[in-house]
Amino acid sequence: MMTNTAIPEIKTSNTVFHSTTPSTTLASNAASASDLSAIPFYQPHDDEIDMFHFARINHLPLLLKGPTGCGKTRFVEHAAEQINRPLYTVSCHDDLSAADLIGRHLIDSSGTYWQDGPMTKAVREGGICYLDEIIEARKDTTVLLHSLTDHRRELYIERTGEVIKAHKDFMLIISYNPSYQSVLKGLKPSTRQRFVSLNFDYPSVDNEIEIITSETGIAPEKAKQLVAIATDLRRLTDIDIKAAASTRLLIYAAKMIQSGCPIHKAYQYCIVEPLTDEPETIKALNRVVHAYC
Ligand code: ADP
Repeated sequence: MMTNTAIPEIKTSNTVFHSTTPSTTLASNAASASDLSAIPFYQPHDDEIDMFHFARINHLPLLLKGPTGCGKTRFVEHAAEQINRPLYTVSCHDDLSAADLIGRHLIDSSGTYWQDGPMTKAVREGGICYLDEIIEARKDTTVLLHSLTDHRRELYIERTGEVIKAHKDFMLIISYNPSYQSVLKGLKPSTRQRFVSLNFDYPSVDNEIEIITSETGIAPEKAKQLVAIATDLRRLTDIDIKAAASTRLLIYAAKMIQSGCPIHKAYQYCIVEPLTDEPETIKALNRVVHAYC
């Protein structure tokens, strides 16, 4: 286990991060040195790892805001592994109900039995429950977050009448992409004001090059070119696309190039086509990308 020092050093597989979080709480269940290789690589954008630990030791839930593919899920995977707690990730969709999160009665040959859902498991075991794209979920799911995110830290299971006091290590993290938000699908202030909120964006140029090279093994100069394309595309304001080229797409392109795919095809199929279906917009994007081919 980590030793207590005034400013604990959290080692990850690719980074050494100095945390200002109180050492005793951080050291209590952080991953041991031998586990470090198992921690998913995460390149911090800013002070988000510090903020995660501050929220955690105060039993506060986290809200991650940011565009798709910019590292929110990787951040949560990294953080969960770093503190050595189980992670339950749920990708929310418009059919996701409270029962999908809490659990339901099932039937087998010996009769009816109760099966915990991912949220209930995390609450009992002291895990992290990560609800990705929470805005997509049905409204009854957000209501059940309320008693878990205030001083009560309780989960009420209506079907069984059970009230579960959350394990001390339980943490709720939700994420959403503000650019997909509509009037109908916004998070209510009464929900969002229960969360410590961290804003994510695309990484800085140097960080994004580092991420792409680490994730794919591509040469830095090729990663640099991918980031230059993405930076140009992200600057385009007069085209109609819902989301700009994400780090995820750049990683796809880098992987394809690494496996022998011609560069211009990787750019076309991994960066341009996923962004839009509109022929005119594709032409505009291609003009930017072709300048690099
Ligand atoms: P999001 O959850 O924001 O949609 P992800 O966390 O799934 O995005 O990121 C997509 C991919 O991009 C990850 O699988 C990872 O390969 C890479 N990635 C993005 N940001 C980072 C980062 N800061 N550090 C390491 N990898 C990253």
